Amino acid sequence: MNGRAETAVPARPGAPADLDWDRAVALIHRAGEVCLACHVAPDGDALGSMLALAQALRTLGKRCTASFGEPFGVPAILRFLPGQEMLVEPARVPAAPELMISLDAAGRARLGSLAGPADRAGALIVVDHHASNTGFGGVRLVDPDAAATAVLVEELIRRLGVPLDRDIAQGLYAGLASDTGSFRYPCTTPEVHDLAGRLLTAGVRPEAVSRELWDRAPFGYLQVLAGALARARLERDAAGGRGLVWTTITRADRDARDVPYDQLEGVIDQLRRTDEAEVAVVCKENDGGEWYVSTRSKGAVDVGRACVELGGGGHRTAAAFTMGGEPAWIIDRLRAALRVPGEPDD
Ligand code: MN
Repeated sequence: MNGRAETAVPARPGAPADLDWDRAVALIHRAGEVCLACHVAPDGDALGSMLALAQALRTLGKRCTASFGEPFGVPAILRFLPGQEMLVEPARVPAAPELMISLDAAGRARLGSLAGPADRAGALIVVDHHASNTGFGGVRLVDPDAAATAVLVEELIRRLGVPLDRDIAQGLYAGLASDTGSFRYPCTTPEVHDLAGRLLTAGVRPEAVSRELWDRAPFGYLQVLAGALARARLERDAAGGRGLVWTTITRADRDARDVPYDQLEGVIDQLRRTDEAEVAVVCKENDGGEWYVSTRSKGAVDVGRACVELGGGGHRTAAAFTMGGEPAWIIDRLRAALRVPGEPDD
């Protein structure tokens, strides 16, 4: 169709409409200061998208801060990302910012201590791609079919008229590579590769990003990984007969090898290789003594739905929740949530 420069109808069902993009761009151009926030315990997409946007806003001449709720510390594997000089502690974020932009957070609770400033912001733009997004925020750039929040941030930067430089592209590429599992997950569309191509053209070196994200670790990590794999249990009958493999990592396990909690992100990628299991689960005890339960499926089972049922969130093939109690009891609850509707109980 022609003559539809500005419309409330999105290009694709579920995607933001031009009007939403235009409202976001207008709010940003009008603002004196912009506060960015991403979800707690940020991953490559959350932090990479946020730092990319922060640098683009700085290019526009905006005063801009970026932060995330406590614990406030950049995970070791993300310390290579450019733009970290723009990070401020969450306590330094204004209580009622003029304009706040939430990145990669499925709900206000995922902002941790920055949920308050988000509630009180003069305007709140939400940029996210979680199917479980709760619908918060006044202007919503939410697309569950986007492979990463970085995809949406790249479009926002383009609509703001900021060219991609190498540092901005590096953050976006980290987000895209993280959430596509290094371009292996089913969300790896032709558009994803087109975007990756534009980011390489802007100067990203893929081997350098991959090395930082996936191909390096202290020796202690390998020892913690070895323990986690040795403890793993395979339950062939669970998940509607499709199989479940799970393991645990206690605080004591990682303290013994001096491995911080945020270094354990890659364990699930080893466990999910298991042929005999549709679903892989890693229960990680955090510093507060609760269990962060990471889940992955190969596509036949919706772990996102199961995790939402247990108070968490995520996507069909990658999701998580946090829970107290003993891991065996937590796995009992997850096993029940994973029963495939319409199929007999295992
Ligand atoms: Mn994401």
